[in-house]
Amino acid sequence: MGLMTGKVAAVFGVANERSLGWAIAQALHQEGAELAFNYLGEALERRVRPLASEVGAKVVLPCDVTKDDEIAAFFDGIKQQYGGLDLLIHSVAFADRRDLQGAYVETSREGFALALNVSAYSLVALCRAALPLMEARGGGSVVTLSYYGAEKVIPRYNVMGVAKAALEASVRYLAADLGPKNIRVNAISAGPVKTLASAGISGFKEMLHFAETKAPLKRNISQEEVGRAALFLCSQLASGITGQVIYVDAGYQIMGM
Ligand code: NAP
Repeated sequence: MGLMTGKVAAVFGVANERSLGWAIAQALHQEGAELAFNYLGEALERRVRPLASEVGAKVVLPCDVTKDDEIAAFFDGIKQQYGGLDLLIHSVAFADRRDLQGAYVETSREGFALALNVSAYSLVALCRAALPLMEARGGGSVVTLSYYGAEKVIPRYNVMGVAKAALEASVRYLAADLGPKNIRVNAISAGPVKTLASAGISGFKEMLHFAETKAPLKRNISQEEVGRAALFLCSQLASGITGQVIYVDAGYQIMGM
């Protein structure tokens, strides 16, 4: 028996084998979870399907998290396959590349709305859609991915930092709303890791180098470390934890200088 035997997890945000969502999916799978994946468009479908089949996923459906009809169809697919849902992994973020360089003050209204919609509001929309399926199982656990740029200024992280601040505040409000239904909501604030999304942040190499120099553990983190922390938050080992931001950053966040 694994920690996740009999549990069903929906994982949003696997683009390729470097994705944090994929590391989380693998950690859950190793402990016996059944997995469902979304993909965004045909190009991503070609990448996600082979990964999904590696972990025996029975539900692989298109879902752009800005589209309510696609969200409804995705959770309907889970309902038909499993009748309920235990775990929701939200590993999704997007901002216009132009808004991840230069000055934050130059962020356009459209760029701001886009980043906040995809990266923060989507957690609210997915939790709402998952709610009846989690209630059917007597509770659940939701994990999202954040970054230190939510609380301190990271040059060029710009509008994504503001989106992550909204995301972390949403975690607290959602945890308060859903706690009475035995649904826990937490965030992992991960240190920088090379992925498709992080490649879009200008000066990302500098972020990696800086984190490694300053962090108490004197190194960067791995995808697998994020996967294991998410596994913990999803499991009964974390049954008393909700509304929190847990740092998987080699200790970087505690440093003042
Ligand atoms: P990733 O592999 O590129 O994953 C990001 C995912 O979000 C991709 O699958 C992407 O699909 C998806 N996505 C974007 N817009 C979407 C939409 N409208 N609907 C559905 N999916 C959408 O990068 P990652 O680094 O693993 O990112 C996962 C999460 O971790 C993000 O929230 C990120 O901010 C967070 N995080 C990353 C780091 C890091 O250093 N890598 C550190 C802290 C936190 P497309 O590829 O098709 O756009």
